[in-house]
Amino acid sequence: MGTTIKIGWIGLGNMGNPMVKNLVKAGFDLTVFNRNPEKSIVLKESTAVKIASSAAALVAGSDFIFTMLSDDAALKEVYFGPAGILSSAEDKNFIAVDMSTVSPETTKIIAGACKENGVDYLDAPVSGSVKPAEDAQLIIMVGGEEKAYQKAVPLFSALGKSSTLLGPNGSGNTAKLAINLFLGITAQGLAEAVLFAGKNGIAAEQLLPLINAGAVGSALTKLKTDNIVNDNFKAAFALKLLAKDIRLATANGMNTPIGKTLGSTLEAAVEEGLGEEDMIAVIKYLK
Ligand code: NAP
Repeated sequence: MGTTIKIGWIGLGNMGNPMVKNLVKAGFDLTVFNRNPEKSIVLKESTAVKIASSAAALVAGSDFIFTMLSDDAALKEVYFGPAGILSSAEDKNFIAVDMSTVSPETTKIIAGACKENGVDYLDAPVSGSVKPAEDAQLIIMVGGEEKAYQKAVPLFSALGKSSTLLGPNGSGNTAKLAINLFLGITAQGLAEAVLFAGKNGIAAEQLLPLINAGAVGSALTKLKTDNIVNDNFKAAFALKLLAKDIRLATANGMNTPIGKTLGSTLEAAVEEGLGEEDMIAVIKYLK
């Protein structure tokens, strides 16, 4: 690696965009690729990033290639697609870091293919939404080899408040799915409490400050108070992505009562057209 670490970054959605800004702020050399080129152009206008023409074009010269994409299908396309990372004939001297929430199985498939190309792969999903991403306060949970993890630590430090190596590839994904199971259960619980109170004459703006001041209040209940009170469901974390995570948890053996109920609530909410709204729009569905 040269003196300035060169990072290729793929995925400039709600999370990828502020994460790239923090890496630029920390002094790393960034080249980005996004499927919809408009997002790369907008980012270039406000930062010092360069734009690549494809995922494959990031291979030459990158010390790290990061991905922050919607789901398993997107990640597979970016690695195995016709202009994907592994289609490049260039020498592959980078460490691959995926920060998306995907299944441990997909991680193992991609990590295996990377290994055949001499590339170390880390699954490094994050806990924390857009605001912690902007504030470099994400919690990063990692699966992979210790040596590659240690090399990535300075980059993780620019993105989050902690990073933890949990075990082999897939371990980060498993921890992330467990956290999002709890996240979804908490969100649905909050929605149900607000709806019950409302039905009996206590408005959301009366109830939520009480919840937030007490033992059941949390960063999440505080974060979602404004959304609920003002009927503002602009996605920080899209409901369809939470539905995807509970689907992945189910495919990995989640079979407990509240989790199963949560899964069917979210699938029904997506079917009703709420998938692009914030996950707390579950309250709209339950209403
Ligand atoms: P997002 O805003 O929906 O962005 C998704 C990104 O994936 C976009 O850059 C999109 O490109 C790209 N993409 C989707 N399908 C693709 C494909 N087939 N080929 C290439 N690129 C593709 O999602 P996000 O909120 O940033 O979340 C990203 C990941 O982080 C997800 O796995 C999510 O579960 C996880 N996560 C999100 C949050 C949160 O609060 N938002 C928190 C923690 C973890 P286009 O711009 O071209 O559509």
